[in-house]
Amino acid sequence: MQFDYIIAGSGCSGLSLLYSILKESKLNGKKILVLDKAKKIHNDRTWCYWEKGEGIFEPIVHHKWKTLEFLSTNFKRRFHLKNHYYKMIRGIDFYTYVLKYAEGFENVTFKYEDIEKIESENGYAFVQTNHSRYSAQYVFNSTGLFHPKMDIKNSLLQHFEGWVIKTKDDVFDRSVGTLMDFTLNQKNGATFMYVLPTKPNEALVEYTLFSPELLPKEAYKTALENYIKNDLKIENYEIQHTEFGVIPMTQAKFSRKPKRASKVINMGTAGGFTKASSGYTFQFIQKNTIAIVDALKNNKQPAKRLTFRDEMYQWYDRTLLEVILSGKMSGKDIFSILFKKVSPERILVFLGNESSIFDDLIIMTSLPVMPFLIAGFKQLGLKKDKQV
Ligand SMILES: Cc1cc2nc3c(=O)[nH]c(=O)nc-3n(C[C@H](O)[C@H](O)[C@H](O)COP(=O)(O)OP(=O)(O)OC[C@H]3O[C@@H](n4cnc5c(N)ncnc54)[C@H](O)[C@@H]3O)c2cc1C
Repeated sequence: MQFDYIIAGSGCSGLSLLYSILKESKLNGKKILVLDKAKKIHNDRTWCYWEKGEGIFEPIVHHKWKTLEFLSTNFKRRFHLKNHYYKMIRGIDFYTYVLKYAEGFENVTFKYEDIEKIESENGYAFVQTNHSRYSAQYVFNSTGLFHPKMDIKNSLLQHFEGWVIKTKDDVFDRSVGTLMDFTLNQKNGATFMYVLPTKPNEALVEYTLFSPELLPKEAYKTALENYIKNDLKIENYEIQHTEFGVIPMTQAKFSRKPKRASKVINMGTAGGFTKASSGYTFQFIQKNTIAIVDALKNNKQPAKRLTFRDEMYQWYDRTLLEVILSGKMSGKDIFSILFKKVSPERILVFLGNESSIFDDLIIMTSLPVMPFLIAGFKQLGLKKDKQV
């Protein structure tokens, strides 16, 4: 069957793209096939990200904070964001919102099949599933079919378990979110908690680690129970929702356009839009979606080439990972130094790939020179398998 666009994978990037294409009048009537192995009916993740003003998904923002906290041993910083909000969107609200909007469009077809192969031939892109073969002008892929090789030499895992808890009493200040609480035992790698209150008696508490390996399932539970009891001093609560996730933090090169598949465009994590040094992806997906739709409506090639600045940010990310992977500095020390010395909004702008060169210099000079210099040079030397 022939389509204009096939969206392979209807998660965050797939549905973000679908929504933006449907909102763009110049792309009215384009025949779109959305493929996924399963319907998006579960609240399988919560996205947090920072943004200036209001974004395209503002109506489904579950909660947002202007004041955040960073905690480390003997050091606590509470800061008020001037230009940004830190926002939370629940997965299920996002899926429902986009799928409901798409229901009104006859030019959109959803199919739930396993994607086995995606390729490009004679100017068209093809998707082979366990049921059928489909073709289109472009396939926008967010499945893991083109993922590069990741191993413990080039990657850390960001793994976490989050609980939404409802407490008997009102114990939270819903105007203040804890971005990172590093006062935890660091024996398993960089280890911190998020505490994001959405009501006076409700918060998402998430135990997060950057390390080479996952922990036994029970360890996340124990850490959350201990933290809620000993640090938050909460005895009476119900767990309303749990989520578990693993995000790759890697030096491996994800390609926006797979080799020999010119009509296939990788996006989301598959396209390298997960920031290697932080795991944040949501805001980068949104920026890329805008770029893709802009290119499509102007009949241009939709895989945006990496700019010099993109490559600089990737080098910064790989360098930071190298410092942690080599054991020269811990994640806790790096983030603690940054939050102690640099304005938090500048850190967020930097982590959001929106900093100026001046911001970059302030960040760099706040950190110990030698570990970053050595790691930075090593990563420059490893740049030969250039990403597109
Ligand atoms: C629990 C969790 C919490 C997260 N929290 C944050 C956060 O707070 N902030 C942030 O910025 N990032 C966060 N992330 C990272 C990132 O934003 C998400 O992983 C995001 O969903 C990535 O979007 P994506 O489109 O690349 O992948 P996905 O959203 O995972 O979508 C990929 C889709 O492809 C489908 N698929 C895969 N393989 C096949 C196949 N062979 N056949 C058919 N379908 C297939 C999957 O079913 C899925 O629906 C989180 C990740 C997880 C797992």
